[in-house]
Amino acid sequence: MADLSDSVTLLTGVGPKRIQALKELGIATIHDLLYHFPFRYEDLKVKDLNEISDQEKVTLKGIVVATPILTRFGPNRNRLVVRLLVQQQVVIVTFFNQPWLKDRFVPDQEIAIFGKWDQRRQSMTGMKIFTAQGDDHGMDAIYSVNKGIHQGVLIKLIKEAFDKYKTLIPESVPASIRAHYRLLNEQQIVGQMHFPKDNAEAKAARRSAIFREFFLFECKIQRLRGIERSVGNGVALHYQLPAVQEFISKLPFELTHGQKQAVNEIAKDMKSPHQMNRLLQGDVGSGKTVVAAIAMFSAITAGYQTALMVPTEILATQHFEKLSALFATMDVKTALLTGSTPTKARTQILEALRTGKINVLIGTHALIQDTVNFKNLGFVVIDEQHRFGVDQRKKLREKGIAPDVLMMTATPIPRTLAITTYGEMDVSSIREMPQGRLPVKTSWVKNKQSEQVQTFLAGQLAHKNQAFVISPLIEESETMDLKNAQALYETYVTAFEPKYKVALLHGQMNNADKNAIMTAFSQDEIQILVSTTVVEVGVDVPNATVMIIYDADRFGLSQLHQLRGRVGRGVKQAYCILIADPKNDIAVQRMTAMVATNDGFELSEKDLELRGPGDVFGAKQSGLPDFKVGDPVADFNVLQAAQIEAQQIFSTDPDLDLPDHQGLKTYLRHFGAIEQLD
Ligand code: ADP
Ligand code: MG
Repeated sequence: MADLSDSVTLLTGVGPKRIQALKELGIATIHDLLYHFPFRYEDLKVKDLNEISDQEKVTLKGIVVATPILTRFGPNRNRLVVRLLVQQQVVIVTFFNQPWLKDRFVPDQEIAIFGKWDQRRQSMTGMKIFTAQGDDHGMDAIYSVNKGIHQGVLIKLIKEAFDKYKTLIPESVPASIRAHYRLLNEQQIVGQMHFPKDNAEAKAARRSAIFREFFLFECKIQRLRGIERSVGNGVALHYQLPAVQEFISKLPFELTHGQKQAVNEIAKDMKSPHQMNRLLQGDVGSGKTVVAAIAMFSAITAGYQTALMVPTEILATQHFEKLSALFATMDVKTALLTGSTPTKARTQILEALRTGKINVLIGTHALIQDTVNFKNLGFVVIDEQHRFGVDQRKKLREKGIAPDVLMMTATPIPRTLAITTYGEMDVSSIREMPQGRLPVKTSWVKNKQSEQVQTFLAGQLAHKNQAFVISPLIEESETMDLKNAQALYETYVTAFEPKYKVALLHGQMNNADKNAIMTAFSQDEIQILVSTTVVEVGVDVPNATVMIIYDADRFGLSQLHQLRGRVGRGVKQAYCILIADPKNDIAVQRMTAMVATNDGFELSEKDLELRGPGDVFGAKQSGLPDFKVGDPVADFNVLQAAQIEAQQIFSTDPDLDLPDHQGLKTYLRHFGAIEQLD
């Protein structure tokens, strides 16, 4: 029996060449073809001369005033000029290289022509002729095609497929939901997406198609989560509440509201038997590390080991020191493991780890080496999670038996992407800063003002403060990066030495040299640190109050915000100075946004708006699903509604047993797989 999984080869005229061309468009079955929707339409309705604009494609109706004139320039090049009287005005319509059209134009006859309007010349390049009466000539759907297949051919195939298969198109969105949101049924969606009578029909179809697409996507995610949970593949961590409370009460400060909420969300996950997969996001300095420490401590009271993986050695060392201090009163044994841990110490650590004498292991990629074996790893924290690949995160997870995983990021994910890309992850957000912290003051200056910047810097240095200076980012050229940084370093040496010490940090230095410089900077032996961004400057130097960024317009918003987060970590007022002569409007908007707000969440939304969702993390690695009709940013409300409906269904009828859910069940059985989820 025929159904939508039939191959397109069953259609007329589909031979090997077209099969290949269709395959390149992602079309193999009738289903693929019917859901290969147009990306726009051309409205062929007749328009009034004074409601059209330059270069618009429109249909005009008029009377042919004279026999058209055909001029030939060469064997295959010619021009047909038709004079058309439209609303008391003569409009010249030119058709190129279609001499056979000459006979279609009979003087004194009314005709409608579709073409591209030239406002200045008050003329048109003709593309299509309509002889039918009336003003309504329907809509033309425009598809993405390739060399091997033309619009016309594709449309013909879709038409044939639709005529043959339309009654076989199954419903996937439950009828109750369709009724509630007044959505078209699936046959109507497909029919009107491809062959709308008018704009209103096309719009109605699109609206329903977007909901359908988002809804089915969210259902896939819900189902996936359901599978993970029902297997009960995690371990319930029974932490000892009094001990955890004691630990929290010994902290030198009160937790912020956001921290408390994050701690509660994590605790709930830990208690439950499913494997936690949670992202904790919050600006630099919002107190994520403390939250992670509480969670790790809880896991320890439940009898498990924990691990914290960070992207750089400097950061690992700093975390190790911070956490060791926090855990000092609680009889918790911590250890640091990085690439530069000496062999002997390493052997001892690995042994203590195997026997369970170490409670918390902190380190870099060194943690995922094969020789690292835990006794019972139950809780894993990954800081700056986006800096690690999927495989690396997986490797660390596999050091334990389904440990709970907490990932942390200071690059907040816009809410649109939290629902889509990270649909399989739970998200906790800390939106406020601990009390008493002064927001960084940001200003944007032009290159010609860089002398004033140095004067300002001199003032700050006189108050015993320190500064970061970030040199321009030259994409794809480390050599150029280094040259730039060196030149900038010379400038600062000339201006500030010997009174203050200036140092250069760049990506081609080895780890030992980098560490030595960072240590000297944090101990105020260096006052000005000139650096390329290639270098991770993710280190706490509370005395650094100035961040100067050259050619700031070359950086993305999230990168700028990260850099700014390096200052303002102490009690003194901090400053971020962006030096830029932006060349386009988007760069101007980025500078303006940086000056306007210190809120990383707000900036991430702005970033998304300015760059489009595909660019946020680089299209490929973002794992952002490739929606065909809907736009997760522009259609966010629909996405949200679709998510709520999907959640509702799976919380009340997880196995999709209700009659109204049978279509959905069948759909998910065929198309339920989601790519890219790790
Ligand atoms: P993050 O990891 O989010 O960048 P940290 O956890 O390192 O932030 O915290 C930044 C600084 O703020 C640390 O010195 C930490 O001790 C301090 N801190 C954290 N939470 C609070 C709080 N609730 N009140 C005051 N200071 C806090
Ligand atoms: Mg941190």
